[in-house]
Amino acid sequence: MALSGVQIFKLLPKTNCKKCGHPTCLAFAMKLAQRQASVDACPDMSDESRGLLGAAAEPPIKTVTFGAGPHVCTMGEETVLYRHEKKFVRPTVIAVRIADNQPDAGIHAALADVLNSEIDRIGQKLRIDAILLDYVSGNSARYQQLLEMVMAQAPDVPMILSVQDADVAETALRSAGTKKPLLHGVIADNFEAMSQVALKHKVPAGIIAQGLDAVAQLAEKVKGIGVSELVIDSGARTAGVVLRDNTLARRAAIKKNFKALGYPVITFAGRDDAMLETLVAMTGIAKYSSIVVLNRSEQWRNLALFTYRQNIYTDPQVPMQVEQKIYKVGEPTPESPVIITTNFSLTYFIVAGEIENCRVPVWLAVMDCEGMSVLTAWAAGKFTPAKIAQFIQESGLPEQLTKKELVIPGYLAILSGALEEKLPGWTVTVGPREANALPAFLKNRPQ
Ligand code: SF4
Repeated sequence: MALSGVQIFKLLPKTNCKKCGHPTCLAFAMKLAQRQASVDACPDMSDESRGLLGAAAEPPIKTVTFGAGPHVCTMGEETVLYRHEKKFVRPTVIAVRIADNQPDAGIHAALADVLNSEIDRIGQKLRIDAILLDYVSGNSARYQQLLEMVMAQAPDVPMILSVQDADVAETALRSAGTKKPLLHGVIADNFEAMSQVALKHKVPAGIIAQGLDAVAQLAEKVKGIGVSELVIDSGARTAGVVLRDNTLARRAAIKKNFKALGYPVITFAGRDDAMLETLVAMTGIAKYSSIVVLNRSEQWRNLALFTYRQNIYTDPQVPMQVEQKIYKVGEPTPESPVIITTNFSLTYFIVAGEIENCRVPVWLAVMDCEGMSVLTAWAAGKFTPAKIAQFIQESGLPEQLTKKELVIPGYLAILSGALEEKLPGWTVTVGPREANALPAFLKNRPQ
């Protein structure tokens, strides 16, 4: 049961010693109640209180991991319904389904798509996170072949074994060794045997039942056998049912502390129509799916889903920022121009990308404006001629230059006169309004 700040406060030492990093025990209690602090931060708490608070502080959505190596998938740990309350912490795992009833060529092609899926966006590497190996052939030897192909060609990609036959699951998990796949396929008819297999190989289990009541009941039975890492599948396959079931499960877990539904959710978005599949996947990403499974990976869909997921799982209260400094783009010389912008990540990566693509070397001066975009920072008084001039003069850059030219964003042409006054000896040039016009601007400007 979740405890209120006052209930938690009653269990604390009440000495206000500040060792936890908070000014008072009450302030610490409030942070614990919001699940924004750990009980371990208070060294003076009694063991009894630590036990009580530790259980109460467990995240309502259980932490579940699968995979091994550099790209382990961690899910759960969410504590809120809405991202404006607190950041969503575990981005949806995007998986691609590969069935064992297709020719080897199709499997190789699907694996190649997964392995080539990685993109770099705003400084983050984004990729298809997992492969779901679907046992549909009824031929355990063929499933074993699929498993071996995946492990040989994509050894670092976490796997989900979609199998409802406990003997096939046992053989596959023995071959998977230490890869710790998710075993997805526990249903009412096989739960005892499948739970034993999951328990033996220390892997998380995926529970499948029709509807949330049935899922909750089955989850309790499997947990009773000893499998604590679970993923739940209520059978939702359309966007509307995904939205309904995921929302009800998240609400029950977070608002009512209903443990039987406090697990990561897996959503199967697969459709023949790629656009529809993408929209169902987006519904899952927006509303609480910890895994979405696609039938195929294609670059256009990957880009849409990765971008969408990245936006949902960034902290809306903390603008994404890059470090304030002078970045070299290409190999700038003492004659190269200086382009100035703010440290909003999206602005930086778009501007830097456009400049890199046109292969004109420049000094890119990125100024700390608390992660605001250019116009917002100007309106907030953080990107003014005086502050820009101070940043440039203190950066150490002027001493390296023989030609001092500062290119400012086109939207802020109004600053050029004041900037020339603040930066004697500099030429201030008004650049284009949009970053995508930078290549033409840089290539065509007089040298
Ligand atoms: Fe109170 Fe413990 Fe924090 Fe000290 S460390 S202020 S006793 S909560």
